[in-house]
Amino acid sequence: MGRSRVNEQSNGEPSRIGVLAIQGDYAAHALALTEAGAEPREIRNPEELDAIDALVLPGGESTTMLKFLDKRNFFEALREFCARKPVLGTCAGTILLARKVLNPAQRSLGVLDAVVERNFYGRQIDSSIETSETSLPGGPLEMVFIRAPRIMEIGQQVEALAFRQGNPTLIRQGAIMAATFHPELSPDRRVHRMFVQIVTGFGPHGSGPPTG
Ligand code: GLN
Repeated sequence: MGRSRVNEQSNGEPSRIGVLAIQGDYAAHALALTEAGAEPREIRNPEELDAIDALVLPGGESTTMLKFLDKRNFFEALREFCARKPVLGTCAGTILLARKVLNPAQRSLGVLDAVVERNFYGRQIDSSIETSETSLPGGPLEMVFIRAPRIMEIGQQVEALAFRQGNPTLIRQGAIMAATFHPELSPDRRVHRMFVQIVTGFGPHGSGPPTG
């Protein structure tokens, strides 16, 4: 329902986008992906990665997610998937993707050239909703922050698409997108639509991330 042909793969099927469903707000992402024209699947085990074209790493608690990933022997398979397929990380998901994590330091998948500091805004205000300029077409973007990390540094091949107080809040590195806020909690579907378009362009067999 409501699927747009633009989000279909060349075989006419909607993109199969997994949502890592071990902890956090994965259900809201699944709904957002459906609204953006994709076919979401909840992913709980490494074997399930074989059946998807792309993955969303939701918000939640990154330390808890890491514990589950270790328990299920999932960390390395997830790292390999995220290094070669389109991925959208939000909040804790962005923390998992980052090259380096601070406050406190913790392990990460290291596929996204960004340094993030956990719970940065949380020291001042636990949660907030802000509307800021974005380079996404369609005007200012509502951003829901919940104990959000701050992106402190990004590599040269990483593009910043939105900001909060001078720090990037939405970034893209090839087929990887990452947000420090929760786009799945706002009615605006621009972030998920952009991700679905990246997935569609990448193709079902994903020969490699698009260059540039
Ligand atoms: N504070 C959480 C963490 O450090 C992230 C919060 C969120 O995902 N909303 O993992």
